[in-house]
Amino acid sequence: MQSPQARCYDAGYAPAMTTAATNSSQNARDTRAHGPLDREGFRRAGHALIDWIVEYRETIGDRSVAHLPVPGAIRAMMPDRAPERGEPIAQILGDLDRVLMPGIVHWQHPGWFAYFPANSSYESILGELASAGLGVQGMLWSTSPACTELETHVLDWLVHALALPERFLSTGRGGGVLQDTASSAVLVALVAARERATSFASDARGLATVARNIVVYTSDQAHSSVEKAARIAGIGKEFVRLIPVDAGGAMRVDLLEAEIARDHAQGYIPAFVSTTVGTTGVNAMDPVADIGRICRTHGLWLHVDAAMSGTAAFCEEFRFVNDGAEFADSWCFNPHKWMPVNFDCDVLWIADRAELVRALSVLPEYLRNAATDSGKVIDYRDWQIPLGRRFRALKLWFVLRSFGVGGLRELVRGHVEMAQDLAARVRAHARLELLTDPLLNLVAIAHCDGDAATQRLIDRVNQDGRFLVSHCRFHGRLVLRVSIGAQATQRSHVAALTELLLREADAA
Ligand code: PLP
Repeated sequence: MQSPQARCYDAGYAPAMTTAATNSSQNARDTRAHGPLDREGFRRAGHALIDWIVEYRETIGDRSVAHLPVPGAIRAMMPDRAPERGEPIAQILGDLDRVLMPGIVHWQHPGWFAYFPANSSYESILGELASAGLGVQGMLWSTSPACTELETHVLDWLVHALALPERFLSTGRGGGVLQDTASSAVLVALVAARERATSFASDARGLATVARNIVVYTSDQAHSSVEKAARIAGIGKEFVRLIPVDAGGAMRVDLLEAEIARDHAQGYIPAFVSTTVGTTGVNAMDPVADIGRICRTHGLWLHVDAAMSGTAAFCEEFRFVNDGAEFADSWCFNPHKWMPVNFDCDVLWIADRAELVRALSVLPEYLRNAATDSGKVIDYRDWQIPLGRRFRALKLWFVLRSFGVGGLRELVRGHVEMAQDLAARVRAHARLELLTDPLLNLVAIAHCDGDAATQRLIDRVNQDGRFLVSHCRFHGRLVLRVSIGAQATQRSHVAALTELLLREADAA
């Protein structure tokens, strides 16, 4: 199938926002021509870059959302070797426009309706900048106590703000940790589950010594990161059971139970169920509470992947996304999707942190310190794959404080309302079909004339330039997905998309 963005780079591409960069670059050039920046050079270039970002963000709606160059076109504009002598920073800033802009897909565009949102707000950019400015490593509490304590604290704030179970609070046996992505979150949760299921034998002696095979369960609509995690964790694709879903895209609990029973009968070790709250394709919700009861009965680890939809729980009326959270051993969502926190930022909460730490902790002499020995601090290196870690919590802190929970709630509500308006218009259209009842902000649409007509519709919407939608397959049918969640998206953008969709549906 053709990619939704498959349009070619137009050689006449003219960046819309060169003025601020050029003016500000002039200042930077005056200050210093070559070599590492001094403080004045940094100050000026920093101001210029902030101006450039503001100009970009404020004029982004004038651009085509995705205007792809021919492959290799961006590299062709760059020299073959890194420069021997340092170049003026103004020249580098200028090349953001000249070289890179032709190859940028505008994820912050108000017409961004593809995949899921990947928001980046001014607040999160400031948090990111502060993090880079501090340049600390937060692998141990003692390598920057504020880095650890802010993280623990804002993740406790989020438990309250999202009304998640108190068992995830750091004040009890649980706690939250920032991972780069939901993919890493499911991997570390799975490793902890694998260890728990084998009484930590595979950790000590390797998986090969575990006499029976460990089995992972997820739905056939779950994100590919679950299967990837199983492969990395040494479990293998063959022992990942992709449980079929019902008409709405939710995991079939009866089939899950039957698979677990079958695996028990074979002598395998059913160990881990990854449920999804908001599937990537059509935003379906697995029945987490029912699945949780099964996990409890059979002693399986329950992981919840609420990557995009977890954010909805800021609003009381959408707290159905938390159903069953009380059964979860681990729960993750991505502030880097619907919350205005730029990539990368995934929150993973664990009900019993001791299991995770036991599964991942290795303590070499060079990391020993009195605070760790005291047992009174969190060392987040034991909660993740890498040792080193960024000060990610800063951007969450900036966003939570500047927006306030109320501001975030309004953002979510606005997107859901826009999606519901679109869904109502689609429902009323004779030639379009809603493939699921949209619970939140994703509208899954098909053309009544079949896949070819749906593909034509996708192509026409994406050729318009003002919008980008993406696709998936659901119960064998091609789906035009409209995912509404970009911070810049206003009702007028969704209204314009709706008009285009309905008009083109008649022509498709
Ligand atoms: N889970 C779900 C439901 C997703 O939709 C996605 C990505 O869209 C992921 C996991 C993977 O996210 P990440 O890029 O944070 O690994």
